[in-house]
Amino acid sequence: MKTHGDHAVVCGAGMAGLLTACALAGRYRHVTLIERDRLDGGMAARRGVPQGPHVHALFRLDDVVERLCPGLSDALVSKGAHHASARDMWMEVLGVTWRPSLDRRVVSASRPFLEHHLRNRVLNAPGVRILSGCQVTGVLQDPHGRRVTGVHVSHLGALDDPGAARPECIEADLVVDAIGRTGRGRAWLESLGYPCPPEQKMTVGVRYASRTFRMRTVQPPVSYTFVAPRQDSRRGLVLAAQENGTWVVSQTCYGDTRPPGDGDEFLEYACRLLPDEAAKAVQDAEPLSPISTYHFAAGHHRLYSKVRHHPQGLLSTGDSLCALNPVYGTGIIIAAQLALHLRHCLDEAAGGTGGTDDLAERFYHGAGRITRGAWQLNVLLDRLLNPTANSTPATRLATAALRRVIRRADQDKLLADAFLEAMEHSRPARLLRPHIMLRALAPGARSGRSA
Ligand SMILES: Cc1cc2nc3c(=O)[nH]c(=O)nc-3n(C[C@H](O)[C@H](O)[C@H](O)COP(=O)(O)OP(=O)(O)OC[C@H]3O[C@@H](n4cnc5c(N)ncnc54)[C@H](O)[C@@H]3O)c2cc1C
Repeated sequence: MKTHGDHAVVCGAGMAGLLTACALAGRYRHVTLIERDRLDGGMAARRGVPQGPHVHALFRLDDVVERLCPGLSDALVSKGAHHASARDMWMEVLGVTWRPSLDRRVVSASRPFLEHHLRNRVLNAPGVRILSGCQVTGVLQDPHGRRVTGVHVSHLGALDDPGAARPECIEADLVVDAIGRTGRGRAWLESLGYPCPPEQKMTVGVRYASRTFRMRTVQPPVSYTFVAPRQDSRRGLVLAAQENGTWVVSQTCYGDTRPPGDGDEFLEYACRLLPDEAAKAVQDAEPLSPISTYHFAAGHHRLYSKVRHHPQGLLSTGDSLCALNPVYGTGIIIAAQLALHLRHCLDEAAGGTGGTDDLAERFYHGAGRITRGAWQLNVLLDRLLNPTANSTPATRLATAALRRVIRRADQDKLLADAFLEAMEHSRPARLLRPHIMLRALAPGARSGRSA
């Protein structure tokens, strides 16, 4: 394996930062993750990742994340992560309910658990280290303004002496912005005098309310129950098994719908949405945490591939590049695919296409292909489940096709599995293939009960 430089800096040690560091390990002699939160080695939820207490579905851990971090799935399971087959799911979308027939392993765990174990793995890789309690405040560039040469950081002072923050410049051959959806990556680009990429925006307005439980005598019948937001109440829910016998209930409310205010209301709404057996289990369960809430206002998709000139040595990835509606659970897999793609771009360069000089162009070209499908699927699902969302005639047509697939998912396993695979792979076009459409439009299709 060829190294491409002495030092790569990854800004942000969330999921995209950690996965990117996996991809860069060995390809740069040193890889430094710079994280604003102070990480003490524990597993507690943290300020920089307010989504931590809410359900995190992990699609395609075995076939994508494993390629970056071999052995991670088994390591998670050995530490207590739940594992089951994809058949052990129950889905309700538009009032149609079904169980997938795909037989593949699904590993599930809370976000802090996943991040903690992934971080430990990444920090064991040669040359990788983390600077925590250190905020990236800007980027450095060469005198010609063509290349980013490092980052400005501020080492945050001790908790009891926040005034003691200490600035520093850290030089690097590559800087990766993985600071998440609220980060200032675009502002850094502007500060260098480069145009910001055009941006697609999507108003989502979903509120989460989540609580962790331990089941007592009654167990839920399946490991993962997904109820897409219903069109009448605008409420949805996920009940998922997590590590060490714990379970999380995440309720999702759109628009003006209010999340449950207290434990009683939380149970009441959850039981209205859950199938009977699962509702009994949650009623009987012991709460392990307070109710955490989170508001996700809007998603974005930044089209870097549409920009002609990029500073070399600076890339954006993860939610900073494309932040999707969390209800569909695809952010981590997209971050993993982007990290794999970055590794491929670097290895391809090692094969003779000329170092890392055009890395930004090649990375964003392929990244656009990865994020486009995910974005389109988000738009379609939002249009389907949240009919007030804006839409174009093409979206309305594709939504009508998607609706037909879902309406028959309970009668036709091929359609049910095609829907799940389209979500996992973020490829809505898969649902529009002729053999799928023929089955979805076949005479006799009945509509599901009213959602
Ligand atoms: C409620 C909710 C539920 C979700 N559920 C799912 C799910 O089921 N499945 C799924 O795949 N995805 C889910 N997601 C999306 C998933 O959390 C993100 O896609 C994923 O975390 C993206 O990782 P990231 O590293 O880009 O951002 P983040 O994980 O948010 O990490 C950003 C990191 O950057 C750090 N940081 C910020 N600014 C600075 C700075 N200036 N200097 C240094 N560090 C900085 C932050 O502290 C943080 O550690 C959910 C999101 C939400 C909001």
